[in-house]
Amino acid sequence: MQRSVPTWSELSERTDVRRRSRRVHEERFLITLALSKGRIFDEAQPLLAAAGIAPIEDAETSRKLIIGTTDPKVRIVVVRASDVPTYVQYGAAEIGVAGKDVLLEHGAHWGDRGLYQPVDLGIARCRLCVAVPAGFDYANAVRRGARLRVATKYVQTAREHFAAKGVHVDLIKLYGSMELAPLAGLADVIVDLVSSGSTLKANKLVEVEEVAPISARLIVNQSALKVRREELMPLIARIEAATTAALVAE
Ligand code: ATP
Ligand code: MG
Repeated sequence: MQRSVPTWSELSERTDVRRRSRRVHEERFLITLALSKGRIFDEAQPLLAAAGIAPIEDAETSRKLIIGTTDPKVRIVVVRASDVPTYVQYGAAEIGVAGKDVLLEHGAHWGDRGLYQPVDLGIARCRLCVAVPAGFDYANAVRRGARLRVATKYVQTAREHFAAKGVHVDLIKLYGSMELAPLAGLADVIVDLVSSGSTLKANKLVEVEEVAPISARLIVNQSALKVRREELMPLIARIEAATTAALVAE
């Protein structure tokens, strides 16, 4: 039987498949950095630029979620702040930048999430703390063993914090505007991030306890670090050097 000559469309389809598989192949050799828009992106950008990985597009104005950098081997994926540890844990990104708050809530401190935290970037600094309405005697409530209603975005972290103190709590998960909860009668106390304290003050809340000091960390997928050590170690070293230089200049 005579072999049929492939048609033009069959041929171009094959080329397409080949081109696509080459692209996927090339992508496997890229290093993917997970980053969130806003504060982390803005504050990480000078460090990344100093480390030779400046994004070639503005994450705020571009609608793209995958952005190339000045290092042809590194690309950025733009994700929600709270999704960064998940991308890195599952290896969809080899490295990422995440706030300590997000890492604590993700359970990264238990060491079973496959994440290394090699560099404290010293950016997006604030503190996670317990705040109450002015006039609420928190210390007394704790002493009396009162049951507190706690509104927070950080339910796991708050649970651990109060359990360690032996305080009984009902945790109420919120996704934003924690400071409204006591005013509206939803909760007695909140656990939230504070930097200047002006938001608390504007809502007549006072900080009564620090849960943890917060800053953004470089995180690395542990198995990627083993398998792609030659590529990742120099990159981490560059970011670390840029961080040290920025802290010295501060
Ligand atoms: P999402 O959109 O996923 O809810 P988000 O609103 O928490 O994220 P940002 O407000 O940009 O996103 O916060 C990102 C990170 O920046 C936080 O996880 C925290 O580590 C840090 N951060 C948040 N608020 C402050 C603050 N007031 N001062 C300094 N750092 C902060
Ligand atoms: Mg926010």
